[in-house]
Amino acid sequence: MLDFDTVKGHEDIIRVLKNSIVQKQVSHAYIFDGMEGVGKRTLAKAFAKSLQCEKGGAMPCGECESCRSFENGTNPDVFYIEREKKNMTVDIIREDITRRLETAPYSNKYKIFIVNEGDTMNEAAQNAFLKTLEEPPEYAVFIILCRNFARFIATVLSRCIIFKLHPLSYETVAEFVAKEKGIPLAEALVYAKYSSGSIGKALSFIDDEEFKEKREYAFSLVDNIEKASDINTVCLLSEDLSKRGDVSEIFDIIYMIYRDCLVYKATGSVKRLIQTEKKDFIVSLAKAKSYKSIANTADAIGDTLKRISYNADVKLVSESLFLKMKEK
Ligand SMILES: [Zn+2]
Repeated sequence: MLDFDTVKGHEDIIRVLKNSIVQKQVSHAYIFDGMEGVGKRTLAKAFAKSLQCEKGGAMPCGECESCRSFENGTNPDVFYIEREKKNMTVDIIREDITRRLETAPYSNKYKIFIVNEGDTMNEAAQNAFLKTLEEPPEYAVFIILCRNFARFIATVLSRCIIFKLHPLSYETVAEFVAKEKGIPLAEALVYAKYSSGSIGKALSFIDDEEFKEKREYAFSLVDNIEKASDINTVCLLSEDLSKRGDVSEIFDIIYMIYRDCLVYKATGSVKRLIQTEKKDFIVSLAKAKSYKSIANTADAIGDTLKRISYNADVKLVSESLFLKMKEK
């Protein structure tokens, strides 16, 4: 059953939301701002369900008519608003929100609108939405989900309560992911770190065979560059890489490898490595190099990524990077 306990992390926000329900000080509009997969939608649903529960407590009872219809996805007074094109247009605001607000809730206290990717509203849509926000009917509650609240015009922001959902701790993500997918915690921790604290992203990496292949390729590439004894081998490796369609992502992973080497070099411990299951490889790479050479390589990878984004020749830029990586 979905309730606030389903939400991972974000304890402070949950406390405020629960208090607002109990003290009957519910606002008309909320913005939940945060990266993809951090739990915005789950939190919005838990809040909406609690608001609609007939018992009126901080947690939904799970038994009343409203809670049951919510569970089935058939609550007549909760609406999920999605964009249809690149932007959320004024038509969606008028048709899916304003018009629905002309009538009172069907069987609940509120009419709740969970607006996904609200920051994709174009200016016309935001102005139309602002009109509703200025004089909302008593029963209207908007929960707007977005990744960048700075895209809203100031007059919209001033009428919303803004909550920033920060990335979750690696441990929180890993524990959830390990349980959900039945994988060892150490493995889950790697995905958690790659995801930068997003459960949604970490879960998507696990199911992504391509991502696994990319990682293996990146590690073996670094290994082969290290072992290469002549420039011809380095040229062949860069030629092979240039034939792939995902060069930037490979470089992202290589960057993570060198980032881990730097962390090991600085701390002398494997505790803070991102790629813990590859720690043997990372430790031996770090030991073979000076701190300065690793730091230079990390910088050079950043430069290479930039050049590739400007359409530089992949074979040429990777060749010069690989030669730099070979410096001790
Ligand atoms: Zn209930």
